[in-house]
Amino acid sequence: MTEKIPVGILGATGMVGQKYISLLENHPWFEVSYVAASPESAGKKYSDAVVGRWHMQKDIPTGVEKLVVGNANHTDSALGNCAFVFSALELKDKKELMTLEEAYAKCGLPVVSNASAHRWTDDVPMIIPEINADHLDIIPQQKGARGYEKGFIVVKPNCSIQSYLTPVYALIKAGYDVSRLFVTTMQASSGAGHPGVPSLDLIDNVIPYISGEEEKTEREPLKIIGRIENGRFVNHKGLEISAHCNRVPVYDGHTACVSLYFKIDDPSLEAIIDIWNNFRSVPQELELPSAPKRPIIYRTENDRPQPRKDKDSENGMAVVVGRLRKDPVFDIKFVGLSHNTIRGAAGGGILNAELLKAKGYLD
Ligand code: NAP
Repeated sequence: MTEKIPVGILGATGMVGQKYISLLENHPWFEVSYVAASPESAGKKYSDAVVGRWHMQKDIPTGVEKLVVGNANHTDSALGNCAFVFSALELKDKKELMTLEEAYAKCGLPVVSNASAHRWTDDVPMIIPEINADHLDIIPQQKGARGYEKGFIVVKPNCSIQSYLTPVYALIKAGYDVSRLFVTTMQASSGAGHPGVPSLDLIDNVIPYISGEEEKTEREPLKIIGRIENGRFVNHKGLEISAHCNRVPVYDGHTACVSLYFKIDDPSLEAIIDIWNNFRSVPQELELPSAPKRPIIYRTENDRPQPRKDKDSENGMAVVVGRLRKDPVFDIKFVGLSHNTIRGAAGGGILNAELLKAKGYLD
């Protein structure tokens, strides 16, 4: 058996960091060798740093519980302890986070990030591997322009868009371009990180505001389905998105109710279901370890998808869709669902790293 690649987790004590640690237990290619968090956690044994806030269903993996938490602000502590880092950091100051992720890349450690800081950086790819694996082609330019020798930065998009963008992209790819998209999200409480939304605010309630979320939901898809031109990303044109984002009393699993208006042809409902059920892309062709065999699953029952029943489909990596029907104002409408801390966060980051490895960027 070839040796596993040692990986570091920045923000290892947070909601997403914990999910990374949990998902990477027994990963065939990667092994957690370094964990880092804020100065308050630094110096503690990992199991002590997360006392009273370990949210995963299984215990802390034995190899990780004894690791001493590093200070994520010190790149030197990571050097020599891992070959690349997953960034699950949440800093108040986005500029500071940008600079910190750049510092890791500069010192030779590739950064696979969940954070929003670099999503709009011109030469940083924002990847959903089923949609835009080819955007990794910008990495040599990013490294050249910034003088990075081994490091680089790759990010994943916001969790809110994962529940609908792959099904919409599958239709665009099949020749049914979309001009208008209206989406209402119902987002799980685990998406709010630590300390999250107070339970007294969320139980028996819906909060119709998540700071910055609607802007991300409306903008990020345009970069993801956009293209590279002269060494920078150019947004997809001709698609307008309007989003309402709500926090709901669900633990895991973001739901999106979507209406679409097609540019020219309006496919039949049967054709759409067929496109979704047969959609396969780069992660499936490369047989990446975390790739869902069926990236989009259509449920025929009229009361699905539901977070409790469907979020774990394909180990939490599939987008589950249902309730496809004609829309009297737009052309069609449907409901999409994805696991926000797996496909929408740590699982998505791991899939990005697997894609990077398979394409030779981590050699
Ligand atoms: P979180 O639970 O608040 O965790 C934040 C992590 O950052 C903790 O490990 C924390 O360490 C560390 N940190 C905080 N301040 C720091 C500082 N000054 N210096 C160094 N480290 C610091 O957040 P989360 O929900 O896991 O989210 C992590 C990132 O993923 C965020 O950028 C978020 O936007 C993104 N994201 C989250 C989700 C989701 O579903 N939750 C989905 C997609 C993307 P301490 O524990 O020591 O404070």
